[in-house]
Parts: sequence; C-alpha cells; structure tokens
Amino acid sequence: MTILLLGSGGREHALAWKMLQSSHCSKLFVAPGNAGTASIATNISMQPTDFESIKKFVIEENVQMVVVGPEDPLVAGIFDFLKNDNDLKSIPVIGPSKEGAKLEGSKEYAKEFLTKHKIPTAAYDSFTVSTVEKGCKFLETLAPPYVLKADGLAAGKGVVILNDLAEAKTELRNMLVHQKFGNASSKVVIEEFLDGIELSCFVLTDGKNYKILPTAKDYKRIGEGDTGLNTGGMGAVSPVPFVDAVLMEKIEARIVKPTIEGLQKDGIEYKGFVFIGLINVKGEPMVIEYNVRMGDPETEVVMPRIKSDLVELFLAVANEKLDEVSLEIDSRSATTIMIVSGGYPEDFEKGKTITGIENVQDSIVFHAGTKLENGNIVSNGGRVLAVTSYGNDFNEAIKKSYQSIERLHFDKMYYRKDIGFDL
Ligand code: AMP
Repeated sequence: MTILLLGSGGREHALAWKMLQSSHCSKLFVAPGNAGTASIATNISMQPTDFESIKKFVIEENVQMVVVGPEDPLVAGIFDFLKNDNDLKSIPVIGPSKEGAKLEGSKEYAKEFLTKHKIPTAAYDSFTVSTVEKGCKFLETLAPPYVLKADGLAAGKGVVILNDLAEAKTELRNMLVHQKFGNASSKVVIEEFLDGIELSCFVLTDGKNYKILPTAKDYKRIGEGDTGLNTGGMGAVSPVPFVDAVLMEKIEARIVKPTIEGLQKDGIEYKGFVFIGLINVKGEPMVIEYNVRMGDPETEVVMPRIKSDLVELFLAVANEKLDEVSLEIDSRSATTIMIVSGGYPEDFEKGKTITGIENVQDSIVFHAGTKLENGNIVSNGGRVLAVTSYGNDFNEAIKKSYQSIERLHFDKMYYRKDIGFDL
C-alpha cells in the first residue's frame, strides 16, 4: 500500500525506517521529511497542517493510509478532516480524533479526564485572567516547588517550575495577564509538585484494545549531569531499567487500562499512539501529562525494539482489531544520543555540512534537523542527528553509539557524553 507520513523529525525518520520494513508498505511519502527520510522514501514539500494540500495529494497519489507524527495537525483535527471527507472513502488515519488530541492540546482537559476516570495525578486547579488573584491564593496553599502549566500547546516550553512563592505569583501574572505564551496561556493549570523519577509509557490503541510498547526514558537537559536548559531531548534509553514487573502491572492497571476505558466511555475516537508521561513516586506511578503522538527522541529507541510489523499493527488499529495481532519486542537494550547544533537550545547556526554518516556501521543514524543542499547533507535545526545502537546491555549500546559519533562531523556539533551513565 501507499502510505503518507506527516512530519520531519527524528521521530518520523524512525517511523519511516520501521514502516519500510513491512511487506505492506510498497510506497512511502514523507511530508515534509528531512534528508534521512529522503534517503529511504519520497519527501513531499507539504506542511503537516496544510490539510487541503494533504487531501489533494492523497487523492492524486492514491494514498491508502496517513500516519501522523507530530501533535500540531492532530490538535488541529487532521483525523476528522480526512475521515469525514466524502472524496476520501474513509482512509485510515493513524492518530486520535480532534477530541482525543485535546489530551495534549489542553492541560486542563487532560486533568479533567484524569480526575473523571480516577487515574492518579497531581492535585490541581486552573485559572484564567479573571481569576488570577484566586490563582495567587491557591499558590499560597501549596508547598514549593510550584508547577505552572500553560493550558495550550507552547512548543514544549509551557511548564514553569519555581521554588519561590513571589516568583510563582509573578509568573502566573506573566502567563495570564501578559500572555507570556500567547493564547496557550490564556488558561493556566497550577498543580502539586510530584517528587520522583520520570519515565514514559507508550501505548498503541485502536480505541478499544491496546498494546503497551517498550518503555523509554529521555534526557531533557542540555548539560551533562542533567544541568542547564531544557531541550527537546538529548538522548534516550529503552527499556527503563527501574520499571520492574510490579511497577509495570500498576502502570497498566491504574493508568493504561482506565485511560483506554475512559476514551471509550467518553465516546472519543482514538486510533493511534498515546504517550503517557509518568512520575514514579515511591513506587506509585502518577500521570504528569498525555501526549497524543510518539516522543522524540524516544521513538528512536522504541521503534528499533519493536520486532513486529508496524504497518500490520497500524492496519489492526484502523480496523479495531488490535487484539488479534501480537506485539513482539526485541529483548536487547537500545540507546540513542542526540547530536545538536552548538548553542542549542538558544541561538545556533544552520546549514553546516554533515560528513561521515556512510562510515557508521554499528549504529543507526536517524536524521532530525537535516536537509539536502546541492547534494550535501546539511544541518537544518537544533537537534540534528540521533545515533541509535543496540546492545545486550546498556553499556554495550552506549559504547557503540559513542564510537559511531566519532565518525560523524559538522562544525560546532555538540552532544552529551553521559547519556545512560546513570543506569
Ligand atoms: P509536561 O509538559 O506536563 O510534561 O511538563 C514538563 C516537565 O515538567 C515534566 O517532564 C516534568 O519534568 C515536569 N513536571 C510537570 N508536572 C510536574 C509535577 N506535577 N511535579 C513535578 N514535575 C512536573
């Protein structure tokens, strides 16, 4: 079948790499893609939120499935747009409906969903510009640190955690009154701080049945020892070593099952990935956020650990028959290390020529911010390459990734040298 994948990051290169291993996938288009997807599929210069162009392309190229990588088109309603179009004969779209995507698109909606379905999460309240003083009073009832979350999508920057009460009040005003995150902070969720270790649980669902994919943990900060500014992710490992069978059972029984049942009870159509951000508080898993797509860089370690045919899983999702297929997981460990442009996550330069990818043998190099320019691969974003390796243990996988990175070069490249060293 002909498949169209929307997105352009490392996540999409990893999804494309995995989908192309399927005998069901005869032609893969990626819109807009990057230099990595261009090397294995056909890139189309089309934005994932340009629904009209996507529809036209789907008709012209006889696309039989659309897989959505990033959250923006999902929150904007691509699932409903394509599904309800009479010209498109109900093409399978892998992703949630617009209503389901609100689990990521609105923090308040997610908190209401969690509370309604009795899924463990931090205590919270939400405020608007007209209730800003109530919000300040609410902050006074909490112990520091104070967690403030812009309700809407804010490119991963909408969560602010502060130790000082006065600073938290000022931040609340900045968000609500001065619209620090634009429309995204016209509502703010304030929640109790949860102290524990974070992990991510990925689920694929057809809205009724689900499969739990390999767990993963990412490294968010730019600096070694988890210091410095937050980034989109500097590396990831899978599986998460501290998730034993007991914790996994709790995650499934208290969080995954009630989430899928909640979607059903609320009549929400959901045919895609759910990425559940969790904190393990003294052995008790609690939800800190839902994302309605795979994580990046987690996809770059999760996809390589899935042995089953991904397109077959997607077809089962589309047909609501996920219970009829099995999910086989590779028992090996996987690690990925992100190579970023020097200066990221602040100012950085693009357009640097990348060399050495063809010399990497022991790892998979997934492209993130790259593009082709006059036949050369050049950097085109903050996060540039994700170098993924397998190992019988983390040590082996990490060692391979670092050895592979030595073969790669571009001006001012930077990466953390301590990914996985805490395991
Ligand atoms: P979110 O976008 O909701 O995942 O928040 C971004 C980051 O803020 C998370 O990855 C956590 O590190 C942190 N965070 C969010 N909510 C809480 C909370 N209630 N307690 C502690 N840390 C939190």
